[in-house]
Amino acid sequence: MFREAEKQLQRYYGYASFRNGQQEIVTSLLARQDTLGIMPTGGGKSVCYQIPALLFPGLTLVISPLIALMKDQVDALASMGIQASFINSSLSGSEVSARMRAARLGEYKLLYIAPERLEAPGFRAMILDMPVSFLAIDEAHCMSQWGHDFRPSYRAIADWVAEMPERPLIGAFTATATQEVREDIIRLLALRNPNVYISGFDRDNLTFLVRKGENKQDFILSYIKVNKGQSGIIYAATRREVDGLHALLVRKGITAGRYHAGLSDTERSEMQERFLHDDLEVMVASNAFGMGINKSNVRYVIHHNMPKNIEAYYQEAGRAGRDGEPGECVLLFGPQDVQTQRFFIEQSELPPERKENEYRKLQAMVDYCHTTHCLRQHLLQYFGEAAPAACGACSSCTDEAEMVDSTVDAQKIFSCIYRMRERFGAAMVAGVLKGSRSKKVLDTGFNSLPTYGIMANYTEKQIVDLIHLFTAEGYLALSEGKYPVLSLLPKSWAVLKNGEQVLRKVRVEKQKAAPDDALF
Ligand code: ADP
Ligand code: ZN
Repeated sequence: MFREAEKQLQRYYGYASFRNGQQEIVTSLLARQDTLGIMPTGGGKSVCYQIPALLFPGLTLVISPLIALMKDQVDALASMGIQASFINSSLSGSEVSARMRAARLGEYKLLYIAPERLEAPGFRAMILDMPVSFLAIDEAHCMSQWGHDFRPSYRAIADWVAEMPERPLIGAFTATATQEVREDIIRLLALRNPNVYISGFDRDNLTFLVRKGENKQDFILSYIKVNKGQSGIIYAATRREVDGLHALLVRKGITAGRYHAGLSDTERSEMQERFLHDDLEVMVASNAFGMGINKSNVRYVIHHNMPKNIEAYYQEAGRAGRDGEPGECVLLFGPQDVQTQRFFIEQSELPPERKENEYRKLQAMVDYCHTTHCLRQHLLQYFGEAAPAACGACSSCTDEAEMVDSTVDAQKIFSCIYRMRERFGAAMVAGVLKGSRSKKVLDTGFNSLPTYGIMANYTEKQIVDLIHLFTAEGYLALSEGKYPVLSLLPKSWAVLKNGEQVLRKVRVEKQKAAPDDALF
């Protein structure tokens, strides 16, 4: 059957073969196994359900929320000689009836419908007696309140399926890879033993770097100088930072644009146009920039601030190298960024459990900034892709580093956290280890702990950095909420009780080039 699928792919679409990921999904569907396919936008989801639709008897219904795109999809199929149609609110009542009649007579292989239709009992009844063998649900994350596009009408799909005389095969597709959305889709659609495939998130032409402790402005200025003539985007967290950075670049003679939601429509579209036409070298932007722009020759994306989570980071960083040529993605981490993002979450109107979820995702982003393991591997594992290889090119892979035995430091930190009854955050723990005389420390009486002052030879910041590192490496857990609290995990108990060794990669500072402002 798979051979047949490949033949259809060549015959109708003219593609030589399925991509990795597509192959698994198609094979699973052809075996009539419920399937959840997760692929980034542009990964090639459409053929995953269109090809099985051609091979199955009867009709495939495609649920899609993108009314504007339905006609394009159907026209594209028609141009390849595949019979397809759509039903949505853009059609007159008589046109809808005519198409329903044609569908019942078997004139289409695929019928696209908007989810809102399923809420109308009359319409539901009409499709109940159609020979639907396969139900494909596009943008399936719309089903989940955790997603960014919740559509209540998606919830009607499961009820409707339950009414059908014969349950069709169900395939669900989305670009949203988070665990909670994935689980919601499976549960709410009542998928039966679904195969779940996640693929296509790897962008092997991109190189990832994290820089900590840099002077961000100096870094950006010298980066732009070294990459003169290349197109780049610099993301900053707030409008004020965008404006400030933009002013700085312009003052230094760089042709930079700016983009954020506080600018007029005219200024925004002018900036966007000029950037697209390479009339601006650099765009300084808030996260409002990017939706809908598709500039292929962006060579680098610098994050002046750490974004709120890995999904957002990967999407923004992924605007580099769309043409397949090399692209570089640099994240400039500063501890203040964590405070900023915590503040945004705290200020948001989200219900408590959603806030907790945002804190969890933020922590994963912070862990990315502190890990000493391959960054690409870290990102792909976050999205659930199986066994990605170390890239050999990211800042973790290439930093000249030596392994240092940190077992004793780790034991000091873990035992201090334990003695403080796992009720405090990194700053307080560092204060105690440092032997701080601050009021906060003295008031709690922690100055009488045996761990008080046992790391006096470090700065408090160095201790905090170590705590962050041990959190990123899975030794410590950090609770959610406004005042996150550190606690020990099994990995840290193994260090405390069995003296298991803790190795830490320490970056060897390369000779820094002397700053050269003369060119600006
Ligand atoms: P999605 O729906 O996931 O955003 P599409 O299905 O629109 O993605 O496909 C994205 C692009 O990839 C399209 O231009 C499509 O022609 C191309 N494509 C998809 N599958 C293949 C394949 N097997 N071989 C070559 N090109 C493909
Ligand atoms: Zn790497």
